[in-house]
Amino acid sequence: MTLSARIDAKRDDLIALTQALIRIPTLNPPGRHYHDVCALVETRLKAHGFETQMIRAVGTPGDSDTYPRWNLVARREGQVSGECVHFNSHHDVVEVGHGWTRDPFGAAVEGDKIYGRGACDMKGGLAASIIAAEAFIEEHPGFAGAVEISATADEESGGYGGVAYLAEQGFYAPARVQHVIIPEPLNKDRICLGHRGGWWAEIETKGEIAHGSMPFLGDCAVRHMGAVLDKFETDLFPAMAARHTEMPVVPDGARQSTMNINSIHGGQAEQGDDYNGLPAHCVPDSCRIVIDRRFLVEENVEDVRAEVVALLEGLKSSRDRFDYDMRELNVVLPSMTDKSAPVVETVHAAIHDVLGIEPTYVASPGSYDQKHIDRIGQLRNCIAYGPGELEMAHKPDEWIGITDMLDSAKVMGAALQKLLLAP
Ligand SMILES: [Zn+2]
Repeated sequence: MTLSARIDAKRDDLIALTQALIRIPTLNPPGRHYHDVCALVETRLKAHGFETQMIRAVGTPGDSDTYPRWNLVARREGQVSGECVHFNSHHDVVEVGHGWTRDPFGAAVEGDKIYGRGACDMKGGLAASIIAAEAFIEEHPGFAGAVEISATADEESGGYGGVAYLAEQGFYAPARVQHVIIPEPLNKDRICLGHRGGWWAEIETKGEIAHGSMPFLGDCAVRHMGAVLDKFETDLFPAMAARHTEMPVVPDGARQSTMNINSIHGGQAEQGDDYNGLPAHCVPDSCRIVIDRRFLVEENVEDVRAEVVALLEGLKSSRDRFDYDMRELNVVLPSMTDKSAPVVETVHAAIHDVLGIEPTYVASPGSYDQKHIDRIGQLRNCIAYGPGELEMAHKPDEWIGITDMLDSAKVMGAALQKLLLAP
């Protein structure tokens, strides 16, 4: 039997596995049922000859006895020594949100689609990689090296209780793992080389409280923030829009530096819906925004930070009574795997062989767990490749295509053949 035929024969198994994964509501936050989903994958892979480890990321953000951050790493050694190919999938899913016409955890099959929260991002990818690995091992029991599959926590909230923790424990050390494929939903004919960086900060403008009828006796922090936003519009946004990248970021709009203003708040705290009183008349002495600045592999985070600081310092010298605080919230550095890296060339050839189409290279506008494998694990031979349409992620009525899962499993299997069979 060919490997592709073997994978086709596992169609029902693939569907049932995907459904079983979707039916465990691993919602993050707060991080529910992580042990259950890891145990499901562990039981299955043990039965296929994998050695497994359950690892709790103790003390990472969100970890508690109520919501422990569980991860699973499973490894199957070949008959002779060789390289290790590691498939990493996050098992957490984002909140359900409104607008569903199906049970988000029912995993209904309709035609070629399986519906559910996490179907596309990324339980379908996890299931496809498991089927690919199992089929490869059955077809080539004498393979060289090792196959690893991990199901990890908290990718949707930064991956600190998942891949970052495992990387710190040495699970991605180059001596142990040589190739990493992350089956995030980037479409079956695309190879994702990496992602942009992110810099998050809170900016607060300061004022002085006074009676609202005599604003000249105080100092309005909201007007100061208005000046900041005006500077963003006139200086920062045009400067960012002019910065283009060699990274093949999709969609096109993200092929430049971008910034979102995540929130704004000034003055009195908003009251609950159950409060029907009128506001007191005060000049606000504080206004805060949170900014979400995405940057390119051609930029560095020091310049990104300095650009915003320069703008604020400029206002301090030009604007009467302007004062501010800036608090950095988080930094993620960009990651970009070279097109000539072995895992890229191998998956490129596998897409050609299996699907008969020319693959395209992409990079992700947001980040995913590659950042930790790159920065902490120091492993630069890593891509995202998996079934599903990126646009479906986090949406109502999220679905994964069964044919897409089968096709991408065949590509993953072909990649294993190229990397783990002695010539
Ligand atoms: Zn994902």
